[in-house]
Amino acid sequence: MLATAMAEKNAYEVALENFDLAADALELDDSVRAMIKYPERVLIVSVPVRMDTGQIVRFEGFRVQHNTSRGPAKGGIRYHPDVTVDEVKALATWMTWKCAVVNIPFGGGKGGVTCNPKALSMGELERLTRRYATAILPLIGPEKDIPAPDVYTTPQIMAWIMDTYSMNMGYPVPGVVTGKPISLGGSLGRNEATGRGVYYTVLASCEHLGIPAAGARAVVQGFGNAGSIAAMLLDRAGFQVLAVNDTRGAIYNAKGLDIPAVMAFKEKTGSVMGFAGSEPVRPAEMLALECEVLVPAALEGAITEENADKVRARIVAEAANGPVTPEADRILDRRGVFLIPDILCNAGGVTVSYFEWVQDENHLFWDEQDVNLKLEKVMTRAFRDVLKIQIDRKVSMRLAANIVGIGRVAEAVKIRGLYP
Ligand code: NAD
Repeated sequence: MLATAMAEKNAYEVALENFDLAADALELDDSVRAMIKYPERVLIVSVPVRMDTGQIVRFEGFRVQHNTSRGPAKGGIRYHPDVTVDEVKALATWMTWKCAVVNIPFGGGKGGVTCNPKALSMGELERLTRRYATAILPLIGPEKDIPAPDVYTTPQIMAWIMDTYSMNMGYPVPGVVTGKPISLGGSLGRNEATGRGVYYTVLASCEHLGIPAAGARAVVQGFGNAGSIAAMLLDRAGFQVLAVNDTRGAIYNAKGLDIPAVMAFKEKTGSVMGFAGSEPVRPAEMLALECEVLVPAALEGAITEENADKVRARIVAEAANGPVTPEADRILDRRGVFLIPDILCNAGGVTVSYFEWVQDENHLFWDEQDVNLKLEKVMTRAFRDVLKIQIDRKVSMRLAANIVGIGRVAEAVKIRGLYP
């Protein structure tokens, strides 16, 4: 289990604690805090699904809109056995600050269904998705709230949501979700976007710290969408990716893994375990390997006060949302580890989701090079904005990112004012 420290402090409590630190640094008054700290809407839905056996099983689903001052709510949908309403509230909160850090005109949202998608057949997964989409239908729409993929949700699942929504409206509405298949109005480059954004921020950090990419060592925890693409791009840029893992275990090669081959192996077998050019290593040891860049790309609570002391990376790049707990943050900061905080590091996904939505709404599509160039521009500008605050105010990168994101949202609500 990743989330050891989560027993003491859940993800939402972590989000609130980080908000207070940034709000204090920004000297926000109580009325602004009251307007932006808590979610605007929290919807809990029942999702009854007819299983292949004929039996009906009830799942629980959520959709949270945290703040929409800067634009429609935007955020992924997670299918995982550990999904709770507090986790979804935390992820929605982070989405608000994340969209503001990269300065795209969206607010924060998130959704989830408490289920184990690995135990469902394709038919069950489709019925669950369509029933969940119907249940959250009143909240979503291209001008209101736009879901996307997150852990264990895929372009196919986005296609089912788009179809369910469109059937109800009576006409096709591709802009209701992003991360769709290309044939349905998805954007080129979206599938790679989160990992690519991670890669751009890692390169910018290496440049800032004077670390040459060629031969720099990286370790990637979690080999899904975000982790595998980040690993592939780092590998392509000359990094040695020493170790990667998934839920079944971790693999290691002191000279660097052949990442494209590991990706092909995982595609074929469902896991990285057993890859020929590697030896197994304990996941806890993997996090403690000496390297230049450690990329936690799985779930919340991967680095806690119990293992933060053992991290021997110069840079921790948070591809996952909330992988480092506040206690671990303080330990890493004290030890001089350079942290690329989640709301900056993994913002490439939502940035290209924004590009996808723009393309859908305009019925005009861009080529992949265009998407990647625009993404690089957004990510490097956001990195510079955060780094400037970190240097000017002499604060941690986490606090600097929150100051940028929360500061922009506070500015927006102050200008909009309150409906009396
Ligand atoms: P994914 O479903 O594609 O992959 C998740 C990966 O994590 C899988 O390889 C799985 O094996 C691994 N994993 C799960 N539990 C683990 C454990 N206990 N130990 C080691 N590995 C474990 O999901 P994803 O989309 O890559 O998301 C990963 C993280 O990135 C999440 O925190 C998500 O919120 C964040 N993120 C994703 C996107 C996106 O666009 N996909 C955008 C921003 C942030």
